[in-house]
Amino acid sequence: MTLPLIGITTKRYTNAYKLPEIAVMETYVQAVSQAGGMPVLVPLGLSDELIPGILAKLDGLLLSGGGDIETNRYQADSTPKVDGVDPDRDRVEIELLRAAVSAGLPFFGICRGVQVVNVALGGTLYTDIAEEHPNSIKHDYYPDLPFDKLSHTVTIQKDSPLARIINSTEAEVNSLHHQAIKQLAPDLQEIAHAPDGIIEGVVLPDHPFGLGVQWHPECLTAHEPMLNLFRAFVDAAAKSAGERTQ
Ligand code: MN
Repeated sequence: MTLPLIGITTKRYTNAYKLPEIAVMETYVQAVSQAGGMPVLVPLGLSDELIPGILAKLDGLLLSGGGDIETNRYQADSTPKVDGVDPDRDRVEIELLRAAVSAGLPFFGICRGVQVVNVALGGTLYTDIAEEHPNSIKHDYYPDLPFDKLSHTVTIQKDSPLARIINSTEAEVNSLHHQAIKQLAPDLQEIAHAPDGIIEGVVLPDHPFGLGVQWHPECLTAHEPMLNLFRAFVDAAAKSAGERTQ
């Protein structure tokens, strides 16, 4: 049996020679492999014509973490706190996600990825939680390592896909973000939140697998429930691939 092909989105950064490079944290690749998927990186700089063609080859789309989404994507004003914006990455990921939604392709959004899902489907973001959300707890445990530091609890909605996969209505998670979902996109459903009410998990109902989390499970695969998130995603991708080839 061919393993399901999981496209992982990438980031652009400037290397030591001041040249742009496209890359992704290796933890994403390892998490997908460990869960039984075949990881492949989806580059940036793709033309609008190439995006649907690449998506059609994939069995699942993993939207990885990274810098902030340009605020004009969700009708907000930019602030000095907005950091690491790459308009080309916004364009590629938003188009990929919308195409995945249309095609019924399994997708999994992580950190920036869940924010991309929300913005692509019409939601908004807090440009900075600490500035915009009164009484919020600390969510920005970065750039200090380690990335697997368990920083706060999330409460997970009973009977949600997340509760079924993790087999619990509570989890300890890492937290490496300063932005979060403000207004949820109309089609999305909140299924997990932090103690301060910040949305930490969403699902797209009636989609084969459409999940997003605000934490970084790819850095927590030593914890079985977190690895199970990738297993569930890869299994859904395999099922979707099987159905399309029949
Ligand atoms: Mn958090």
